[in-house]
Amino acid sequence: MNAISELSVIREMLNNLFPIARSLTGEGNRRTLEYLQQFVPITTREIPSGQKVFDWVVPDEWQIRAAWIAGPTGERFVDFEECNLHVVGYSTPVNERLTFTELEPRLHTLPDLPHAVPYRTSYYKRDWGFCVTQEQYQRLKASPGPLEVVIDSKFDAKGSLTIGELVVPGSRKEEILVSTYICHPSMANDNLSGVVTTTLLASEVHKSAKPIHTWRFLFVPETIGPIAYLSSYPDIIKRTVGGLVVTCCGGPGPLGYKMTFQGDHVVDRAIEIAFHELNAEPERYAFSPLGSDERQYSSPGIRIPVATICKDKYHEFKEYHTSADNLNFVKPEYVFESLELYRRVQNILDSNTRIISTIDGGEPQLGARGLYPTIGGANKQSVSKSREGPAGFDLDSVMWTLFFSDGEHDLISIAEKSGRNFSDIVSVVKKLELAGLVTRA
Ligand code: ZN
Repeated sequence: MNAISELSVIREMLNNLFPIARSLTGEGNRRTLEYLQQFVPITTREIPSGQKVFDWVVPDEWQIRAAWIAGPTGERFVDFEECNLHVVGYSTPVNERLTFTELEPRLHTLPDLPHAVPYRTSYYKRDWGFCVTQEQYQRLKASPGPLEVVIDSKFDAKGSLTIGELVVPGSRKEEILVSTYICHPSMANDNLSGVVTTTLLASEVHKSAKPIHTWRFLFVPETIGPIAYLSSYPDIIKRTVGGLVVTCCGGPGPLGYKMTFQGDHVVDRAIEIAFHELNAEPERYAFSPLGSDERQYSSPGIRIPVATICKDKYHEFKEYHTSADNLNFVKPEYVFESLELYRRVQNILDSNTRIISTIDGGEPQLGARGLYPTIGGANKQSVSKSREGPAGFDLDSVMWTLFFSDGEHDLISIAEKSGRNFSDIVSVVKKLELAGLVTRA
């Protein structure tokens, strides 16, 4: 797919997914995954409400059909139909007539962003509320009342929590995890950008020739999703060498990444190399146990090093968790930029290997194999690309790669220590393998 048609796919995905009312559980999440299945063969797992998962319990499934606040003449001041952020997520059912004073403690507004609706949830304490713009708040206040307040919601103790998954088996059992969350209703950067990016990355890995690592793509509700999943399939924890949480990667702001809790894990280093190859300087965010699902994957007993490449990271943009995080804020071009980085990182991680020289000792005689300039004595021994050596042959990369072909250094560290491009090192390794000079450790 070329970049232009990929942009139109991203646009179509954003437009179709944006209106769906998602939450921790429920039909909105299933509809989201059903939609994604046309791009990639995601399978779904249902983990029953009430199931104990580590220290948590899977909540009852929440279903919502409608909600509104109407004035005495029936005029609707606030309607869930117009914006699904209007209802506090997991609100209990309500059907009451209230004065503004009685309703007021249940209203959430953003005085600093008066035109935006805030996003609020009450997942683990039964409660209810409405999120409204400052203008709606003023109209409710001015209404003579009483106000008709309706939330047509239901909790199903026999429901379940839905998880989407795609596993692409590699030639190795070691796994790399790519996780995104599907629990946010109509907001675009947090986190439709992550859902779209993960789907398109998964689709590409799925279609490619067999990867080296096994790649596991997860679409989970935030926090309880990874906990429920890992508690149900704990063997995966041991096999997973690292991962990425894909979220907030479609804003107009800077590209950056949040480091793993180790800070210098191979995932961090692959991300640094990817930025370096694009001549881009990332915003670097140190690990903190606050944030998204990297918290769960990194926690004691799990400890999978997980990083996040972001473009307008969560907590860093003023539209965060409001209705202003919409499709005017997120553009397909921004999502595409992040997707390109994620692809590069995926490729780097999957091409990374250690190599060993097949020569018993010393340098191999490259000249005898047509891999070295035949005219000696040049002032600068390390010739650059396509000068003196065979055309297109990067002697610097050849020499560095051979120097580190000791079984101790992986290709990422060779690129780091030599300052050469990772992709050049990879193509040199292929040539050296063909010449019988190195093997993969
Ligand atoms: Zn969020």
